Amino acid sequence: MNRQKSQVLAGKKSDSLRIQIWGARGSLPTPFTPIELESHIRCLFEQFIYQNNQVKSDKRDVELFLSQIPRYQLGGYGGHTPCVEVNSPHQQIIIDGGSGLRVLGQEMLKGPSGRGLGEIHILFTHFHWDHLMGLPFFAPLFIPGNKIHVYSVQPDLKKVFRTLFKKPYFPVPLRKVNSQIQYHTLKPRETFYINDIAVTPYQLDHPDPCWGFRMEQGGRVYAHCVDTECIRTTREELGLDLPLYQNVDLMLFDAQYTLSEAIEKANWGHAAAPLGLDIAMREGIKRVIFIHHDPAASNAMIAAAEDQTLRYYQKLFTHAQEALPHLESVDWAFGYEGMVLEV
Ligand SMILES: [Zn+2]
Ligand SMILES: [Zn+2]
Repeated sequence: MNRQKSQVLAGKKSDSLRIQIWGARGSLPTPFTPIELESHIRCLFEQFIYQNNQVKSDKRDVELFLSQIPRYQLGGYGGHTPCVEVNSPHQQIIIDGGSGLRVLGQEMLKGPSGRGLGEIHILFTHFHWDHLMGLPFFAPLFIPGNKIHVYSVQPDLKKVFRTLFKKPYFPVPLRKVNSQIQYHTLKPRETFYINDIAVTPYQLDHPDPCWGFRMEQGGRVYAHCVDTECIRTTREELGLDLPLYQNVDLMLFDAQYTLSEAIEKANWGHAAAPLGLDIAMREGIKRVIFIHHDPAASNAMIAAAEDQTLRYYQKLFTHAQEALPHLESVDWAFGYEGMVLEV
């Protein structure tokens, strides 16, 4: 793993996909509590004083100190539930409407029109709460003239929207939402285009069910594999859904649990990072970012799971290299809110 390589990448290539994580937490928004934040700040101050040996310090010392702390230790992994933005040079696509969607919506309002984007495209993997709860708070929905295209393999998307915007759960009924919403039902494993991005839905291993997306543009491939328990692991078991994992440059994968938790919580619909690494190594996936972190896990617990995954990966890679000396390494990391990746 090269953690640095997986950090924010600046600049934009002419043919590329840029992926930004707006929500990396699974199941339930998980903000720092005031007590956690206070203890976090105290801990950082203590480290700073210790490193600077109580000598009088100025602002530059603080900046230097903070720049040496890994991003995920400084601000944690984030508390918003799943929302991922994919951009090609010509097109934006949003995947899922978790609580991170509210923040993305605010950012979109800062664009030149101040109205969102005019035409907006949102794909839904499935309808569990953590992937929908940001929708009623997505400001571009309420702006007249905007056209919002929403897509899912499940045919009942319109019904889901009506239920979300319904009293007593939300005060504004769907008919009073000012944008125009267009519903699209997707055919499983059939490729369609949104401008220059080819999108194909493949089934994941999750209740109700859930669909991942393979996205291709200019020869770059992104695979969105959240939420999944990864019950099917072999090529034979994956069957028609195997192409989701083949010739992929970047995969986002479910890592709600540690490996032992995933065994304990069989049939809960979520995986552990080592399961994603097994598939990535076999299929030659270049980079994997793990998200959908457990709301029950503190940032320290997620960091510990990342370290445990590193030990697993080192053993797996060394072992596999004995048989396959030219085996490519996998660049992987645990993702966090605000992380930007380019392929
Ligand atoms: Zn979820
Ligand atoms: Zn789910």
